Amino acid sequence: MIQITMPLNFLGTVYREIRQALIDMAQMFGLLEQPPEVQDKPRAKDLTVTDGEVVLDDVVFGYEPERAILKGVSLTVPGGSTTAIVGASGSGKSTIGRLLFRFYDVVDGAVRIDGQDLRDVTQDSLHARIGVVPQDTVLFNDTILYNIAYGRPDATRSEIEDAARAARIHDFVASLPHGYETQVGERGLKLSGGEKQRVGIARTLLKNPPILLLDEATSALDSETEADIQTALRMLGRGRTTVVIAHRLSTVADADEIVVLEDGVIVERGRHDDLLLRDGRYASLWYRQQAEEAAA
Ligand code: ATP
Repeated sequence: MIQITMPLNFLGTVYREIRQALIDMAQMFGLLEQPPEVQDKPRAKDLTVTDGEVVLDDVVFGYEPERAILKGVSLTVPGGSTTAIVGASGSGKSTIGRLLFRFYDVVDGAVRIDGQDLRDVTQDSLHARIGVVPQDTVLFNDTILYNIAYGRPDATRSEIEDAARAARIHDFVASLPHGYETQVGERGLKLSGGEKQRVGIARTLLKNPPILLLDEATSALDSETEADIQTALRMLGRGRTTVVIAHRLSTVADADEIVVLEDGVIVERGRHDDLLLRDGRYASLWYRQQAEEAAA
């Protein structure tokens, strides 16, 4: 009996991890209603992540044949480093995230992880190796404990609390009358956007994926919450390859590389300070956002 249930339990865990990543991705990119566009090849292999290097090699992509959204994007994210993608609304930032998760196949070029073309690996293995933190984490109508443990259902209580501490949500949870047993979601306690995001970060810490895809908040949170979330995200990103889709620039200034996307093309790349000195697209985006945030 043990021999039968153990693999089943293991499969259950893997399935839930994949499902969680899919739910988070779908939520992140508004794809909940969409049928899958891609299929595994007949003899697709599982993705093997060693260094965690992510490469976009001259990627061309459009949702419709007549309209290219990415027009030859090349990008290397070395294992363990952080690349932030910035650019005006509609420039194609989220599209890069969707391709990394292989919601769609590229029209030309390739996306590779540790040298493996995403079209050659199983989607399940890909989704199990990428952690996604959307702006708006989906909460289940269950306890906070369940919602965090969803990242790894076999986690112990102390591992769950450690993850919650690292994600800066433990003190808040501990202050609730029912603590980790508090019911959340539509039929329970409504959490704020920042609290939900921290539950998502704790969940992803438990899942422990080598590659992360983060969707930075579009709107400013209050500065204390923002600082907490930044600390939590830094903890999460430590030692993992991280791709940040950034709608605001203030949160990505310490990325190893920032790429500026404009109309489907990378027009600038570098570190924050260098890009400011260059006084080009990034600098003008940066000063405009600083002025807008100061005015707000
Ligand atoms: P934002 O900062 O506003 O989120 P973005 O840079 O992430 O923008 P994308 O979501 O990548 O931009 O969209 C790039 C372009 O692709 C936009 O013009 C958008 O309208 C278009 N687009 C996005 N999703 C689809 C889709 N499913 N079908 C057709 N066009 C799409």
